[in-house]
Amino acid sequence: MSYQLRVPGPTPVPERVRQAMDQPMINHRGPAFAALIGECRDGLKWAFQTQNEIVIFPSSGTGGLEAAVQNLTSPGQKALFVTIGAFGDRFAKLGQAYGADVVRLEYQWGHAADPAEIGQKLDENPDIKVVFVTHNETSTGVTNDLAPIVAAIKQRGRLVAVDGVSSVSSINVPTDELGLDVVISGSQKGWMLPPGCSFLSASPSALEFMATTTCPRFYFDVAKELDYELKGQTFTTPAVSILFGLRESLKILRDEGLEGVFDRHARIARGVRAAVTALELELFADPLFFSNTVTAVRAPHGDEDLNKKLIGTLRDKYQLELAGGQASLTGKIFRIGHLGDITENDAIEIIDRLEQGLIEVGYIDGKVGAVDALTSAMRNQPAATPA
Ligand SMILES: *Cc1c(COP(=O)(O)O)cnc(C)c1O
Repeated sequence: MSYQLRVPGPTPVPERVRQAMDQPMINHRGPAFAALIGECRDGLKWAFQTQNEIVIFPSSGTGGLEAAVQNLTSPGQKALFVTIGAFGDRFAKLGQAYGADVVRLEYQWGHAADPAEIGQKLDENPDIKVVFVTHNETSTGVTNDLAPIVAAIKQRGRLVAVDGVSSVSSINVPTDELGLDVVISGSQKGWMLPPGCSFLSASPSALEFMATTTCPRFYFDVAKELDYELKGQTFTTPAVSILFGLRESLKILRDEGLEGVFDRHARIARGVRAAVTALELELFADPLFFSNTVTAVRAPHGDEDLNKKLIGTLRDKYQLELAGGQASLTGKIFRIGHLGDITENDAIEIIDRLEQGLIEVGYIDGKVGAVDALTSAMRNQPAATPA
């Protein structure tokens, strides 16, 4: 039985990418590195659907969020943080840690943000310059509808910074079409890479604004990093091996095409949701905002012990690694990550094993046709991918 790592990051790394990373180290101040980072930045711009500048930091996704906060806030200055789950909370806590005057707009976990309320908050607080918002909330399996949210922000002339860590390269994030000022992603999610790099795109307006903000910054100084990267270098020693891998994973993404990648994620997610329902389990998220990269499922019978037992059984007996819940959802849900390197056949394996695990822990008496539900839902026409 093959190991199925299906947590919403880190995700499986394809053999091709692993081999591409298995190379002797190079000088990060030499021409080979300049070519490497040039190719990586061009590929990232393609995947982010932007002509904005992009910088690559050696960090996990949170480092990218920290960079956004450090470069876009000033101590004592108001900033709006829209939070619909654990990662939105983390964004807001970063704002607090660096002394911004944090205005929070919080939503019940499992729900999406309301664009009209964001507009209202901005009208009440004309001194808010930047809005920080999560696109795909990995802790709850909810994807915010970016287009109307961003429209509400842009109509009022404010900047928007988007946590796209678990969406960019898996779910459509048309950076330039929507006018997203800052977008952050991370290597270990849809990019099919090990943890180790964050990516941050910044619009010309964002870069201009960053020159006026006063939050202390050093390692994650976007302007300084960009100066280096435009010269084919990085400020500090980069995660060279991850960049070898990124060059290869970008080729894989280009071969499939962004449309193909988004459709595959949408198709598999639709199948997984249908299978979960067939398994008599309950989906956690608001159905209007289901995520195409992670599915959150309520604990069977709402029973925390049974939830734990199921995750353990799947891990130990079925080589299927799923995630539990985070923060207030600990024990209350389990999550299936279906992003990055995943095929329809992988989805069949995952659902088949989940069904067997549910029989094993006594939640269902026998097979209920979960794989059939999966495959027929995957065959149906994909719904249009929302931005
Ligand atoms: C994974 C993730 C992050 C970053 O987490 P790290 O562990 O720092 O990589 C941030 N936001 C979202 C939405 C994520 O899914």
